[in-house]
This record gives sequence, structure tokens and C-alpha cells, in this order.
Amino acid sequence: MNRDHRGEMERRVDGINRLLRKTGRPVKLMEVCGTHTVAIFRHGIRGLFPEISFLSGPGCPVCVTAKSDIDSSILISREPDVTLMTFGDMMRVPGSLGSLDRARAEGADVKVVYSPLDAVAEAGRRRDRRVVFFATGFETTIPLVAAALEMARSSCLDNFFIYSVHKLVPPALRALLADGRAGLDGFILPGHVSAIIGARPYGFLAEEFHIPAVVTGFEAEEIMEGTLMLLEQIASGSARVEVAYKKVVKDFGNQKALSLIDRYFEPFDAQWRGIGTIPGSGLKLKGEWSGMDAERAFNMSLQPDDCPDDKGCSCGDILRGLKLPVECRLFGSACTPDHPVGACMVSTEGSCAAYYKYGIQAKGRADGK
Ligand code: SF4
Repeated sequence: MNRDHRGEMERRVDGINRLLRKTGRPVKLMEVCGTHTVAIFRHGIRGLFPEISFLSGPGCPVCVTAKSDIDSSILISREPDVTLMTFGDMMRVPGSLGSLDRARAEGADVKVVYSPLDAVAEAGRRRDRRVVFFATGFETTIPLVAAALEMARSSCLDNFFIYSVHKLVPPALRALLADGRAGLDGFILPGHVSAIIGARPYGFLAEEFHIPAVVTGFEAEEIMEGTLMLLEQIASGSARVEVAYKKVVKDFGNQKALSLIDRYFEPFDAQWRGIGTIPGSGLKLKGEWSGMDAERAFNMSLQPDDCPDDKGCSCGDILRGLKLPVECRLFGSACTPDHPVGACMVSTEGSCAAYYKYGIQAKGRADGK
């Protein structure tokens, strides 16, 4: 770290501490995205500000994919002539029928890909098989899946399908605030999602709920700057949506990516693991593309009630900012990264896995609690 850089960091630390003193009470900030949760741990930011509770939000795709959707993907993978492809993080997520990892061990053709375009390439190579991409993720990932659909169409592939469990960030935040129990003072909003959707879709946070919000990146200085900007709003009693990541995030987002999403997908009321149904919070394929919709092609109709959440798992409360991972009675005992009970312990970006990895294994050691 050079002298200028160190000076900037000291300015931010001093500024945050001064504003915390001015506020005169502990502050609850929610970092919506799992990448931020991990970055805040990695950069040691929690330890710098014991008066700030950094709470994990619902922005970890692995954590919020409903059990019923994991089960559907397992059932599809067991169909004849099917190759099911997905991101590596999804393989170990437990459903009530096991996991995709176990389905593979039992003989299903399940493969890990780094990109949905790899699944299209597989469908091109293996015209004798039905290739299904289990499409998870938020606004960051969805344009890539839309590009895969575009590529499958232009290659005239009739053996490529997606099972879409895509989720949208703004409706989840609205549901969280409407619930009203978390008592949040501000949001640290994800830079990568916002690079696609822009800052405008978050306007309701300030306008309707009077909650300050700052979009920022994932480097230490970006998170610190975002936190400083949030504290300035909190200390002055104002509420705006601001961007501390202007090199990447524009007010209206990436129009090309948004129109590609709009060509293929439409919102629907999606099921979030541990949370329930959130209006308009998912994206499914538009009717005109139903030929590529795995849910229709394989007649999947598992309802959430068919797959109750794990007994004793507090993921839902953690994703809503109501609990910390260390407050789950299974944390670090019955539930560890090697033997996860809930999805928040599976993904490297899951809140429970992050707390475990960074060594907060005893109850009562959580910052701000
Ligand atoms: S520690 Fe395990 S069981 Fe508890 S909330 Fe986290 S994932 Fe669920």
C-alpha cells in the first residue's frame, strides 16, 4: 500500500468513526450480496468497526434456490437421454431428494460448467441427448444465459433447454423491508448486479422506505468508501441511493444486456429458499420460447410445500438479517462446510460458510451482537 493509498484509507476510517460517534448508537448495515460478505471478512472490515453490524442479505444464488427447484433438477437429471449442466456451487446444495452430486454418483449425467455457453456447445456436440442448463443466479448472470439461448436458436438446436430459477435483487429488498423486522439502517448494494440494472431500480429504498443505500465494488477501499457514504446519510438523517462505483455502474444500467434479458424472460412470483414466495422476484422464459423451457418439456410441477425447509436451519432468518450464522444451533456442529445442512453453508459466498471459514465458530463472537 503506497502512502497516498494509506492516507485515503485512514481518511475513511477516521470519517466512519467520527460519523459513528455523531450517530451515537450501533448501526445495522446489510451487504446484500455474498461476494460483499466474503470481501468484508477478507479485508478485516468487521473488526475495524465493532459498532457496525454487517448483516448478510439474500444475494447468494446458491442460498436462495428453493429445495423444490433442486429436487426438480434432480428428477430431470434422472430422465433418459438427459445431460444436466450447472455451475459447480449448485452440485452440493441439499434438496429433499439429495443433491446433484449424489444424483451424479448414482448414475445421472450431471456436469459442471463455467458458462451456459458451454452447455450450448454440449448440445451441439451431442444431438442424441437433451441438454438442460440449470440456470441459477441474479441479474449479473442472466444476460449470459440469454446469450446462450440466442446461440442455441441461431444454431437451430432443438435439444437445448434451461430450467430457470433466476432471481432479481430489487423485489427481494422490497419484501425484506415490507417485512419490517430487520431494523436496517442502510444497504451496501452489489456492484456487479448494478452494472446490469443500474442504480435507478433501487430508488424505492429511499423514496418509500427512507433507507440509505450505496452501490459499491468489492475492493477494500470501495467497501470503505461505500460505508462512509452510508454513514454520512445515516448521521444526517437523509436517505438517497448513491453510487460509489461510478466507473462501472450507471443510473440506467447496461441497456444492451437488459434488452437481451427482456427478449427471453418475464418476471414471475419466485420461491426463495427459507424465505418463501416473493412477488415478481424471479424470471422465467416467455411463452414464445417454451420449446426451450425444461419445466414444460419435463412437466415439472413440484410445489414448495412438497419440499419443506431443513429442520433447525436458520438460513431464512440469516438471509433476512434477523439472525447471524453463529446464532444457529447447528452452526459448526451438525452443520459444517464438509457436511452442510442448509444452503448457506454450501456456497463459498454463503453467510454461514463465510463465518465458518473466517473462524467465527463460537456463539457470541459475532460483531455487533
Ligand atoms: S449453520 Fe447450517 S443449519 Fe444453521 S443456518 Fe447455516 S446452513 Fe442452516
